[in-house]
Amino acid sequence: MSAPTSDDRIPSSGAVVARRGTRRGAEEIRLPTGRQHRPAAEVRLGKENTVSTNDAPAESRRVRLGTWPTPLEPAPRLAVALGLDAADLWVKRDDLTGLGGGGNKVRKLEWTVGAALAEGADTLVTTGSPQSNHARLTAAAAARSGIEAVLVFPGSPGASGSGNLALDGLFGARIVWAGDVDAEGLARVAARTVAHLTEDGRHPALIPFGGSNALGAQGYAECARELTAQLPDVSTVVVAVGSGGTMAGLVAVLGPERVLGVDTEAMADPVSAVAEMATEAGGRVVTPADLTVHGRPGDGYGVLTPAVEDALLLAARTEGLVLDPVYTGRALAGLAAAVEDGTVLRGRPTVFLHTGGLPGLFGHPAAIAYAENALRDGTRGG
Ligand SMILES: *Cc1c(COP(=O)(O)O)cnc(C)c1O
Repeated sequence: MSAPTSDDRIPSSGAVVARRGTRRGAEEIRLPTGRQHRPAAEVRLGKENTVSTNDAPAESRRVRLGTWPTPLEPAPRLAVALGLDAADLWVKRDDLTGLGGGGNKVRKLEWTVGAALAEGADTLVTTGSPQSNHARLTAAAAARSGIEAVLVFPGSPGASGSGNLALDGLFGARIVWAGDVDAEGLARVAARTVAHLTEDGRHPALIPFGGSNALGAQGYAECARELTAQLPDVSTVVVAVGSGGTMAGLVAVLGPERVLGVDTEAMADPVSAVAEMATEAGGRVVTPADLTVHGRPGDGYGVLTPAVEDALLLAARTEGLVLDPVYTGRALAGLAAAVEDGTVLRGRPTVFLHTGGLPGLFGHPAAIAYAENALRDGTRGG
């Protein structure tokens, strides 16, 4: 055993906190009262904040942010509505990960924020769309860790501050509006933001887009192990693919043949990204050809299609389960299509991974208009 025990790690976390407190003493005045009076040590220290299951150095730096394991629930009425047998379908409730309104990003952040804190970071910087669930949870993770968050979004202020953006504000994040930029332009503004913070004497850590790299994907390797303990004979896990770290982590442990990804068009080439991260996270080669990623290219990121509308109603009315219009609604629409085309078969245990996203529903005007119409009409939205 070369890795330190969780007790060994306490002094090193404490040292980080102490250094920060000294260096930034004058700045404390600007912090909200709640944060000012909360001793950072209380947040960071304690065995439950550091999880250790193996000797890997990355594992030893992981911080506890969420509530584990998440529930695995049967979904018999949804199963039958999709054309499966009632006992075939399960929902893995990663919308219930605890921190900051929950969602899949919490598992990835335990690893990336853990690494950032171990390196002495006092500010987390990340990018995404203004309705990014990842950005919202990065802000929550920063708050819980007693450090700051800077979120770099395309566009300009003044647009609606609903949904995830409202929560970003509550968590105390600072938003940098990058203007009219593409993905590369956004990354450049984020790099510039990191440079400015460094010049100001801060210690920023850049958390990747969507929290996805091989390190963040370890959170979903862990989820896959949790899931196989709950349902050893799981045949297929259906998951929305955005930045790809979630699918990559699942593939690293379950193998590509047991994971069905549904593309949400958040990125140009998600399949290559997933293959690369799955290879690095799992230590065995996964090629793009090994992966199954469905979806309807050209629908557009975040566009509320009729198939997604149907999926939102179906989950809500069969199981009381709320999906979001950007990711999980797409994923369920993808599962429905996969049952129709025979990719997902009756009589096999299938898991729908609920990755969260509820705040995004309230930041999506078309989805809200659709839900309001459903209320008026009773049977059907739109
Ligand atoms: C980000 C996100 C996804 C996709 O996860 P990736 O790891 O980025 O592929 C799925 N569902 C929700 C709700 C998300 O916020």
